Amino acid sequence: MTNQTLFRDTYREISLYSPNRTPAAIDLSDNTNRWGVPPKTAALIRNLALESITRYPNLYVSGVKEALARYLSVSPDMIVTGCGSDDVLDSTIRAFGAPEDKIAYPSPSFPMIPIFAKMNGLIPVSVELNSANPPFDIDPKTVLGVGAKIVYLCSPNNPTGTPLSRAAVEQIANNTDSLVIIDEAYAEFADENFLDLATTRSNVIVVRTMSKAFGLAGLRIGYAVGNPEIIAEIEKSRGPYKVNIFAEKAAICALTEDLDWVNEKIVEAKVNRARLMSELMDMGFKPIPSQANFILVPINNATEVDRQMRALGVAVRPLPDLAVVGDALRISIGPWEMMEECLKILKKVVG
Ligand SMILES: *Cc1c(COP(=O)(O)O)cnc(C)c1O
Repeated sequence: MTNQTLFRDTYREISLYSPNRTPAAIDLSDNTNRWGVPPKTAALIRNLALESITRYPNLYVSGVKEALARYLSVSPDMIVTGCGSDDVLDSTIRAFGAPEDKIAYPSPSFPMIPIFAKMNGLIPVSVELNSANPPFDIDPKTVLGVGAKIVYLCSPNNPTGTPLSRAAVEQIANNTDSLVIIDEAYAEFADENFLDLATTRSNVIVVRTMSKAFGLAGLRIGYAVGNPEIIAEIEKSRGPYKVNIFAEKAAICALTEDLDWVNEKIVEAKVNRARLMSELMDMGFKPIPSQANFILVPINNATEVDRQMRALGVAVRPLPDLAVVGDALRISIGPWEMMEECLKILKKVVG
């Protein structure tokens, strides 16, 4: 047996991220773009010259930064990219948090945050979201009371789909010297976002991804926007060559030539979200009103319901025993035929 003293103590508590990935005909489990790859980007990738992969990609993908800067109306030095926004979040935590520093994060929220915190030797401290007034907002006093070096917020929040209130987020940002990370993986599907805080406050960054609305999850492209000095620190921590050549070219193409397609699908996702919401309510569920491309549905025995649904060809994400919510299923929004099939199978399983 391997000598246990070899291992870092804090790594013992880290487990692999391993959601049930049993294949199903319709997969509504991970909030990726169920309409597919943007068409011009798909054509570009098919035709990419294979010889290009014998060389390294661009060090910090300046072309992607420029395309993102135009898309967001900010300057390129306010953007850092990464191998998915997961990489950007990890690099940010590493750049600003020393071992033993605390990171405050909401519960329930994105499960990777406590994992990245421990991987970097930080202490994750969860703050439960409000149960009412309004539900799933965050209490600034509790967050500020943690004394964290880094505050992670997520809006719209995964897995609830709910936005944080501007009042709460501003109260946190205005009353701390900590770095405030606002994860906006689903901003494209929401009525409001906090990009203005990232461009006007020196301690706020917004983190986004091309994995959800842009349909490029498999290529792994994420980014953060913020004050150039903060961004430069994250870039050091991230290191060179993190965005590969296919991802680089696809990101630029999607941001320049496929925006109409992307925006069209965002509109369709919002229409289908409202429609799925009302169908679920007709079935007697109390789905949580969502600003993202998924809906969280409180339900008993979520794990067993998912298992039976998967066996019938529709995968959703079971989230047993969530803080504030209890057992729930998270259902990604896709083309209406997929939603119809999901509703049909859900009815079959819950009777
Ligand atoms: C999907 C998701 C991410 C990760 O996105 P990648 O860019 O694919 O790494 C980050 N944050 C939240 C809240 C997500 O739901």
